Amino acid sequence: MVARYLKHKGFSVFYLQNITDVDDKIIKRASELGVEPLDLARKFERKYLEDMRSLGVTNVNLYARATEHIPEIISQIERLMENGFAYETETGVYFDESRFEDFGKLSHQTDVDLERHRIEPDPTKRNPGDFSLWKKREDGAGVTWDSPWGRGRPGWHIEDTAITETYLGPQYDIHGGAMDLIFPHHEAEIAQMEATSGKKPLVRIWMHTGFLNVKGEKMSKSLGNFLTMKELLTRCDADAFRMFVLLAHYRSPIDFSEEVLNQSKKSLERIHLLIGIIEEQLEKTGELKNGEDEEIDSIVAAAREKFLEAMDDDFNTPNALGAIFDLVRDANRRINEKTISRKGLRDTFRLLEEFGGILGISFSPKSEKTTEEDKTSRPIELLIDIRQKLRAKKDWEMADEIRNRMKELNVVLEDSQAGGKYTACFKKISN
Ligand SMILES: [Zn+2]
Repeated sequence: MVARYLKHKGFSVFYLQNITDVDDKIIKRASELGVEPLDLARKFERKYLEDMRSLGVTNVNLYARATEHIPEIISQIERLMENGFAYETETGVYFDESRFEDFGKLSHQTDVDLERHRIEPDPTKRNPGDFSLWKKREDGAGVTWDSPWGRGRPGWHIEDTAITETYLGPQYDIHGGAMDLIFPHHEAEIAQMEATSGKKPLVRIWMHTGFLNVKGEKMSKSLGNFLTMKELLTRCDADAFRMFVLLAHYRSPIDFSEEVLNQSKKSLERIHLLIGIIEEQLEKTGELKNGEDEEIDSIVAAAREKFLEAMDDDFNTPNALGAIFDLVRDANRRINEKTISRKGLRDTFRLLEEFGGILGISFSPKSEKTTEEDKTSRPIELLIDIRQKLRAKKDWEMADEIRNRMKELNVVLEDSQAGGKYTACFKKISN
């Protein structure tokens, strides 16, 4: 959404995403699974890219992997050593947090606060808040490299500044990430790059997103309250999900619930409905007013102004969507009153298309075929829901009967048990 809007405003955008494909968590998980760490990292990278594609995230110019920037990482650590900001011990190379005056500025922490953090406990470090730039390690197939400090692998923070320095230079405009990256990750990135280059600030604008919560708790694997993108996209389409996300400001947390998801589906349907009506009306000849339509001119102008004003105000998408909903309401009223002109219909249509493009949401109704599919999938979802309740009550006989009768209708239900949570998916077999 941010990249799309900046482009709409005429900025040239280079959007870089870093991929951390080496860290202790990956290595640990790979050894549990008996696979190579890099293979595991690639598998999840593929899944991630697939999910992004299906969500319409198409504006990333470059995905850069940490493991493909080891020489750049080593070069940055060498310069930090030369500048006196880094030191070597038996366990690795560390950034000396006490040498960097601005440490803690982004997260608004004082020296006393920072004292309390034991970022990575290690008795060889000078200060508890020092973080590693290079870890001396021998373990992990394919994920150790030679360096001036012996074999090992990079610390997490240095990967990112080595990559951003390569493609964006020592200073750039926007850095994004979730709220929990402010400390220590982004704080460390500032310290590393500013200490390397002597140029301030590393980043002009930091954009931190709120968490996706479920009933007030962060959606996370460890809490077992998470949904994968794939599961989610069986419940709603990508447009409805983007709408759901954009109904909250990016800095606020989003509370995931079926209710809010359904609300966003309904809002989207209202826009689809209006576009459908406009297309229908424009096809009719002779019945519409031609010429000027001052009222719709001012409605369209007001919607545009309100939308842009909201987006200019730190990407206030809930207010921008508000402008769209107002436009839809006013256009519907004019259509019902039969007072709207041909030009008014066209201008409304064009503005909605433009807004949709900026938000990455298609406001045009789906083709007849998919609408038909939606109609058939709804009763199926209802049956799945009822069957799930029967299974919960251990009424296996009735649950099986539903499955068998659905099979006769060419709908195959597959039951699976994931993380103790029951999931069912269906596929319709076409003849
Ligand atoms: Zn980063």
